[in-house]
Amino acid sequence: MPTALITGITGQDGSYLTELLLEKGYQVHGLVRRQSSTKRLRLDHLYVNHDIYEQQLFLHYADLNDPTTMRRVLTAVQPDELYHLAGQSHVGASFEIPESTCQTTAMGTLRLLEMIRDLPQRPRIVQASSSEIFGSPTAFPQNEQTTQRPVTPYGVAKTFATNMVRVYRESFDFFACNAICYNHESPRRGESFVTRKISRGVAAIARGEQTHLTLGNLDIYRDWGYAPEYVQGMWQMLQHDRPDDYVLATGQSCSLKDFLKAAFEVIDRPYEPYIKTDPRFVRPAEVHRLVGDSSKAEATLGWKSQTSLQQLARIMVEHDLQHPSV
Ligand code: GDP
Repeated sequence: MPTALITGITGQDGSYLTELLLEKGYQVHGLVRRQSSTKRLRLDHLYVNHDIYEQQLFLHYADLNDPTTMRRVLTAVQPDELYHLAGQSHVGASFEIPESTCQTTAMGTLRLLEMIRDLPQRPRIVQASSSEIFGSPTAFPQNEQTTQRPVTPYGVAKTFATNMVRVYRESFDFFACNAICYNHESPRRGESFVTRKISRGVAAIARGEQTHLTLGNLDIYRDWGYAPEYVQGMWQMLQHDRPDDYVLATGQSCSLKDFLKAAFEVIDRPYEPYIKTDPRFVRPAEVHRLVGDSSKAEATLGWKSQTSLQQLARIMVEHDLQHPSV
């Protein structure tokens, strides 16, 4: 049974990856931060199952900012594969808390690489990188060769982490990959991200609980894919015979208005009458248009995004119609 260790197991991607690896017969270990609440909404359905929890799925208290504990867990678990997904993942919030964003996302990754360097048997590692490293690109679509020009604290932290992963691969012969992921969404997306804010808002409007939805900048374009496919791509990177960096994206550039239209179509309404804007949700700087070229992942790994924006919006809105509180 191969052993995987996941940092960020409680997040959207961590929970989908856990399901994927359990299905494939892995023993899965996840790092969780000590908090007063032990509720882990995205994993609860797995760890209430006594055939799985503490049999095939194990959670450990550890923190990227606590190297002693991290090292202890790494030594005890001896993973074959390490999926590094942890970090402060909200771009907007990174303007409010830039130092802690860099501590976890940039320095946390470097610390992890240093710990792995000392292990007698190094795991294969994949880091969840981000399209935010491209910032305001001059090339469309972006691929692995595109110049990195981040424009947000989150983007700068991810650029540092991404380059460190490459440097450790090239300098110390690590099997280390960057999954340069464009936005990927699902019903498990955190509710402050725009797609989930919209899908929850549409469901609340349909139920008559909310009259409108307040957003920030509507004039933005993103490449939005379906999260379970992206963790599948990360797994494929670690099964390949050579480590490398890969863009994971749909290749479609969609506007926020396209997503709004698709989400409101699920409840047969136009979006325009329900939208207000508020400068509170507008960022000091941001990426306006990103679209990725994942032809390398397709050619090398056979990975290709499968879900359209309309399908994605439907999956999310239907979930939020059925589960009002989650
Ligand atoms: P990001 O691409 O990782 O920053 O993902 P988000 O879902 O947080 O934001 C996507 C885009 O939607 C950004 O360009 C935001 O400026 C824009 N946006 C517009 N209104 C909102 C809003 O109310 N909340 C969020 N999170 N983003 C918004």
